[in-house]
Amino acid sequence: MARLLSTRICPSQRFQAPRLPSIRPPLNSYSAAGSGDLSFRGVKLSNPPGFVAAALEVPKSAPHSPGPENRLPSEEVIRTWCNADAVCFDVDSTVCLDEGIDELADFCGAGPAVAEWTAKAMTGSVPFEEALAARLSLFKPSLYQVNECMEKRPPRISPGIAKLVKRLRAKNVHIYLVSGGFRQMFKPLALELGIPPENIYANQLLFGNYGEYVGFDPAEPTSRSGGKAIAVRQIRQMCGYKTLVMIGDGATDLEARQPGGADVFVCYGGVQMREPVARKADWVVSDFQELMTYLS
Ligand SMILES: [Mg+2]
Repeated sequence: MARLLSTRICPSQRFQAPRLPSIRPPLNSYSAAGSGDLSFRGVKLSNPPGFVAAALEVPKSAPHSPGPENRLPSEEVIRTWCNADAVCFDVDSTVCLDEGIDELADFCGAGPAVAEWTAKAMTGSVPFEEALAARLSLFKPSLYQVNECMEKRPPRISPGIAKLVKRLRAKNVHIYLVSGGFRQMFKPLALELGIPPENIYANQLLFGNYGEYVGFDPAEPTSRSGGKAIAVRQIRQMCGYKTLVMIGDGATDLEARQPGGADVFVCYGGVQMREPVARKADWVVSDFQELMTYLS
């Protein structure tokens, strides 16, 4: 923790996102769909592609409405959301449509075995660090495989997230990515969204001299059960934020709402609606546009 605290700096929202052509989908993946319109993986893009495919496909499990009591935010929740000076986003099934480790495992040929472990990890029946180590040991991704996966299967960004992040940045709200996934895989995503790389709180894969997998950094708080809550508390404490909002789909995101952590937890169910999490959320949305509505 001391190491992490000493290496973080408070973000600057004036950060400019460079383009990274290295992870653009191959040019032949795009096809013209009219004057200036393009499509990728069969999905029509409203804007010319940056490098991460904006996806508008049907979610894996169709979200359904939880009880109306938290579909409509209270005045207090709206006030907190509008006054937030920092917002922490989960990545897998929130900012992105996929679970990063499952995608990487699938790319490395260990998809089903790892997905089984991921499902177990999400129930909370296995400590996160144990599930992470077990999953990685099933396919031991090399640096080469990680880079190749990023190039051939760039993360698919959730519809509306780029617009929301842009609006928040325009309001000088500081944005963080807090995830149990891998920092290496999120850096290009952060760059695309204009989020400073130091605002990524995630796990670090470790590689040997020849790029071979040797493990993950156990010092990252996100490598352990309850780690997201710890990371969010650190973020708040380090930069002295008065109001902080956490947005995500999982139980570990919900845990971040605690004294000294997030003031409000927004459950995003646009990819996966997890009923037990939604029930305890301050606000449940299935479209990022719902959050935009209240931002001036
Ligand atoms: Mg998630």
